Amino acid sequence: MSLIVQKYGGSSLADLDKIRLVASRVKKCRDEGHELVVVVSAMGKTTDQLISLAKSLNPFPPERELDMLLSTGEQVSISLLSIALSSLGVSSVSLTGGQAGIITTDTYTKAKIFHIDTRRIKDLLLKHQVVIVAGFQGRTPQGDITTLGRGGSDVTACALAAALSADFCEIYTDVQGVFTADPHLVPQAKKIARLSYEEMSEMATLGAKVLQPRAVDFSQAYGVRVHVRSTFSEREGTWVEEINSMEEVRVKAITHSGDMLKIVLLGVPNQPGVAAQIFKALSDFSVFIDMIIQSEGREDYKDLAFVASREDEEKVRKAIACLEKELSFQGMKFDETMSRVSLVGAGIASSPNIAYRMFNALARAGINIDMISTSNSRISCLIPRDLMEEAVKVLHEEFIMQEVRLNEEV
Ligand code: ADP
Ligand code: ASP
Ligand code: MG
Repeated sequence: MSLIVQKYGGSSLADLDKIRLVASRVKKCRDEGHELVVVVSAMGKTTDQLISLAKSLNPFPPERELDMLLSTGEQVSISLLSIALSSLGVSSVSLTGGQAGIITTDTYTKAKIFHIDTRRIKDLLLKHQVVIVAGFQGRTPQGDITTLGRGGSDVTACALAAALSADFCEIYTDVQGVFTADPHLVPQAKKIARLSYEEMSEMATLGAKVLQPRAVDFSQAYGVRVHVRSTFSEREGTWVEEINSMEEVRVKAITHSGDMLKIVLLGVPNQPGVAAQIFKALSDFSVFIDMIIQSEGREDYKDLAFVASREDEEKVRKAIACLEKELSFQGMKFDETMSRVSLVGAGIASSPNIAYRMFNALARAGINIDMISTSNSRISCLIPRDLMEEAVKVLHEEFIMQEVRLNEEV
């Protein structure tokens, strides 16, 4: 008998028929004799709808109140799933994140889990209950409701799997697994059978929203094997796990993110400590920065460009407003028309041929690269958003399809 944590995403719970289907999947797993903790997201687009309700009253809703509102989406799902299970004769208990013992920081809308008190879940498992937990939420030590950031149900599932030492964590979604590119954008994309935590973490960070980045980090830290698979099929999906063998260096996937914001600070004094001052201000507002370019510029002044997510625009503006009080620079530009396309694969950045082929393929398609960044297992290019889809297709053809055809010929 195994202990399995399953997570069902919003698209798998979009209407009552889908909830019935999820209930029958849960029943089947239970009938096989497994212990089950089931994490659910809000139904369909509920979270988006709740956000727009709040924003129509106030474009900048107080974050504590926003979390109070958003957490209701997942509460609808836990209770409906538990009710659907009762009609199949399966006994289950639904718990909010707080009731499940998920304790977080008080950074509303992007709270971090720092402790999980598993006693209540373990008690219920001993009583042979299926435990259904609301994803994406927790509570502060003071008892206030928090949410974990968009896609946070993945984090709840992987964190619970870690805390309960589950045998593995299943992420059920609307696609068959993790693909070589978003299958909704590139229909020929191939399902990947196995990915290392490092590769999945890069893909998630770079926009493959099938798994939330922090969920991957939890799984890696606690060695939880994750199986990403479809709610609507019995087929094997993608296993995310420790891969030790020294595999050949190759591009595993192409990812994209359309919501990039490029910021240029013009005429920044060319002195030691200035870059530190700028990035300290951004870090104080918890802005995650991706690419940075400091131009050659003139002797005394340089231009400094960097890239953040458009979601963080308000925070970037606040950080720069603070910075302007301490540092004089000659101007700034915000460009919201950019996107990022990336190649992911362990070790690829150390292979010069891969970078050359990426830049060459984009050049052949007439796509100009604005900025570039690399890490051990990725190469990313900032390009205009209206060319993003074209770029993903071109790169998928260059790095995935050509290889697929080669292997078929062998
Ligand atoms: P859920 O509601 O189950 O949490 P999400 O919408 O958050 O599902 O994530 C699944 C979606 O991720 C897919 O529908 C797909 O469009 C998108 N996606 C982006 N890149 C990839 C990829 N490389 N492989 C699989 N899915 C991807
Ligand atoms: N419902 C939340 C969201 O839409 C959490 C999740 O689906 O994982 O972001
Ligand atoms: Mg999701």
